[in-house]
Amino acid sequence: MRATIIHGAGDVRVENVPDPHIQASTDALVRVVSACICGSDLWPYRSMAASEHGERIGHEFIGVVEDFGSDVSGLTKGDLVVAPFVWADNTCDFCREGLQTSCRHGGLWGRNGIDGGQGEAVRVPQAQGTLVKLPVGEDSALLPSLLSLSDVFPTGYHCAHTAGVTPRTTVTVIGDGAVGLSAVLSAKRLGAERIILMGRHKDRTDLGLRFGATDIVAERGEEGIEKVKELTGGDGTHRVLECVGLKDAIETAFAVVRDGGVVSRVGAPQYAEVPMDFGVFFRNVTLTGGVAPARAYIDELLPDVLDGTIEPGLVFDLTVDLDDVSAGYRAMAERTALKVLVRP
Ligand SMILES: [Zn+2]
Repeated sequence: MRATIIHGAGDVRVENVPDPHIQASTDALVRVVSACICGSDLWPYRSMAASEHGERIGHEFIGVVEDFGSDVSGLTKGDLVVAPFVWADNTCDFCREGLQTSCRHGGLWGRNGIDGGQGEAVRVPQAQGTLVKLPVGEDSALLPSLLSLSDVFPTGYHCAHTAGVTPRTTVTVIGDGAVGLSAVLSAKRLGAERIILMGRHKDRTDLGLRFGATDIVAERGEEGIEKVKELTGGDGTHRVLECVGLKDAIETAFAVVRDGGVVSRVGAPQYAEVPMDFGVFFRNVTLTGGVAPARAYIDELLPDVLDGTIEPGLVFDLTVDLDDVSAGYRAMAERTALKVLVRP
């Protein structure tokens, strides 16, 4: 079968790889119907050292169950399923606490001999715990929004949830990428009435307004901080959702959070230190967030997607065939695309 291999920065290829097959009684074999490129895939795309054999990549996909091992129940051949971006047994103590990203028997796609999602098929370990059955056909118009449940939408939701967004909290979202826009949609779903979106790409912030943002701040750095303060009587907002992962974004987050407030970060951090000095201590600011246990949120979010209450799949603005996946990476890296859907 064909699958995406990253060989180094800027070097993504589609190559023939061995067909996956059931190896353990807890495995399932899934034919991929649609996959996508994640903002976090862009970090290796920008910086990975050249590698002769390369690595499989991709961790977001929807597919059809073609086969499964003897210890998998609840799935039938032909089922359409979505996979969260970490596979997990969904039964261990961490999973029962809703932290499937720390599963004692789980792991990442595209690592240690596990298939990546940007290919024609995937061997899914711990299939019963990992896969969520979708009650629609593979030609459903809901597919982009259902695919967003694999990572981007639950990641935005995790940010708003861990921050403690409620109808009584004001919110700033930093970043107008697909995760930032998902965080806006999530804050709106949790009842926030004031949502300030910091982003400078008008087509993206326009989608943010559609998702529930009430104010847009296009300025960055000190200017952006001043603008948010101006909009909030000088205080900043109760909750700040940092959806970028860069040092200036986390610094902005601490600058625009209200005293006693919460900063949540879900952008894969490209920094090692956060500005939690005496001044922040004195303001009683909490830092939370982290990698999103997408599996923990899918059951909660799925009904709203199925009945059309929310349409998180609007973040997809480009679809490419698997053979053109490198063009998809380029478009996201050059920001001509917000988020790219890949069809094998
Ligand atoms: Zn587990």
